[in-house]
Amino acid sequence: MADQRIVIAIDGPSGAGKSTVARGVAERLGYLYVDSGAMYRAIGLFVFEQGIDPANAAAVAAGAATIEVNLDKTAVGVRVRVNGRDVTEAIRQPQVAQVTSRVSTIPEVRKLLVPQQQRIGPGGGIVMEGRDIGTVVFPRAELKIFLTASAEVRAQRRFEQQREQGIQSSLEKTRQEVHERDRRDSTRTVSPLLQAPDAVYLDSTALTAREVVEVVVRLARKREEAGPERRV
Ligand code: C5P
Repeated sequence: MADQRIVIAIDGPSGAGKSTVARGVAERLGYLYVDSGAMYRAIGLFVFEQGIDPANAAAVAAGAATIEVNLDKTAVGVRVRVNGRDVTEAIRQPQVAQVTSRVSTIPEVRKLLVPQQQRIGPGGGIVMEGRDIGTVVFPRAELKIFLTASAEVRAQRRFEQQREQGIQSSLEKTRQEVHERDRRDSTRTVSPLLQAPDAVYLDSTALTAREVVEVVVRLARKREEAGPERRV
């Protein structure tokens, strides 16, 4: 039954494996995968390239309001576009990640993106990952996962991911960047990274991505079987 398709929210710190898991779960269930971080990164890239001071909330908000961010599903995966320009690879640079975690503390930036994310939800059949999906974007999602892993494993995963993307760094530098971003994401006043009270806590330190996908798919099927309970 089409209306049994649920909303799955996956939140957690950087390097916990959210993207891999969310993508894998979406594929298995035939759901739409939405990377909310890519939308924040698109604004981060804009601010970075325009030379706007990320600490200048008014300038960031004014700039962010002038751009259009799109996530387009294509044959080669989801492409991120800013005013039509494909920025899928550019937004992955470590400097952009740092600027992004600074601009995403600005309430106006979140006020721009949260409604866009919420508009994707009502039909169900989506897996959205981020930091505030289960707490702010979809507080009534049928399934919420808080995915984490030890700090060391998260740094290691991020380091390897960057190497695959051709980004040069050192493990020590990546460890510091991950730590700094998590600190900022968890301590900001607006929509900090928090586990929703009704989220399932999953520690992926000793699990492969495939194993985590399996756990989430099993939980999702159970929720789907529970019948339509459109909560978003
Ligand atoms: O998930 P990803 O690492 O790509 O996110 C980049 C940054 O975007 C995070 O460090 C965080 O500051 C911000 N973000 C956020 N809320 C979300 C998703 C990402 O503030 N829902």
